[in-house]
Amino acid sequence: MSTSDCLFCKIVSGEVPAQIVRESERVVAFRDINPQAPTHVLVIPREHHVNVAALAGADAALLGEVLAEAHRVAVDEGVADSGYRVVFNTGPGAGQTVFHVHAHVLGGRGLNWPPG
Ligand code: C5P
Repeated sequence: MSTSDCLFCKIVSGEVPAQIVRESERVVAFRDINPQAPTHVLVIPREHHVNVAALAGADAALLGEVLAEAHRVAVDEGVADSGYRVVFNTGPGAGQTVFHVHAHVLGGRGLNWPPG
């Protein structure tokens, strides 16, 4: 399923350009256009789901693929050993602005806890 007005569906289809770093049959990873850390990559399923809760309910195996791909991104980017963060902003109150589920993979600098 995709939605015609979804920005990330358009990245999946190639209609909107993105700097893609990894692709698999069901998952795409691309650099965030407004990076918050030296490594800031978004990992998304090709299929449209609005957030991680919807994806978990619809296809938990696909969520597993997204998480496995997030770790591969961290390895490729050289941040797996120093430490990295995987974040799903879920809902407007948590800062979600694009309603196609995406894992942020952040690394390459110290990351504070708790996050803002
Ligand atoms: O978690 P949230 O929904 O706020 O994250 C959306 C992310 O998508 C932002 O970090 C934003 O910079 C990124 N983005 C992007 N390419 C676009 C539009 C948004 O990487 N064309």
